[in-house]
Amino acid sequence: MDYFIYIIAAGIVFVWSMIVQTRLKSNVARGSRIRAASGITANEVVEQMLREHDVMGITIEHKPGQMTDCYSPKEGKIYLSDTTYGQDTIAAIAIAAHECGHAVQDHENMALYEFRQLLAPFAGISSRVGPWLVIIGVVLSAYLDRNGDTGFGWTLSTIGIVVYFVAFLFYLVMLPVERNASSRAYKDMKQAGWVSDDQLSLAHKVLRSAGDTYAVALASSAVTLIRLLALRGGRRGRR
Ligand SMILES: [Zn+2]
Repeated sequence: MDYFIYIIAAGIVFVWSMIVQTRLKSNVARGSRIRAASGITANEVVEQMLREHDVMGITIEHKPGQMTDCYSPKEGKIYLSDTTYGQDTIAAIAIAAHECGHAVQDHENMALYEFRQLLAPFAGISSRVGPWLVIIGVVLSAYLDRNGDTGFGWTLSTIGIVVYFVAFLFYLVMLPVERNASSRAYKDMKQAGWVSDDQLSLAHKVLRSAGDTYAVALASSAVTLIRLLALRGGRRGRR
């Protein structure tokens, strides 16, 4: 029964992720075909937005590839992808403004952003190692049960869950940080008139659908966490 619920939940998240990915692709494709009414380029948007928020010392660089746009606080750089760098489309402007939103968050020492940065180096490894520790712990537990449980397997599984929790926490914090960067981008876009009023809704859709991918990541991580907890179970055979 337990497993059945997990399969249903994982299935729902999978279908949802497909919908979100398709919607993102189509919104970015539409936004990349239409040039912004103001004629401004993504690079100029970055320069203006940074200046507006008194963020100094950030340079813009081209990062070849699709969706490679990102802000690197360590390098003090905003990387823009093939479809963003030097482009004047609605999608390019929205994405560039979003990355600027992260630079502004960093500049303002936004607590959630700083917390995300703190977790970032560990998130990848903890999401890979955590589940394995739980599985090894469960297997050991089953073996040790026959030979008198020492509680070692259960403890190892618990450590695995704590390790995985770091990844879950990362996704939990990432969602509001991403939404915040997008709302900053949208606000500045609207105020500065980088796109016309009737282009705003498409720009908003691009930002919104990109943000939804983080909601999917969080849901997927929550399902895994619940599954790991169920797999470990309560502590049995304790003497
Ligand atoms: Zn972002």
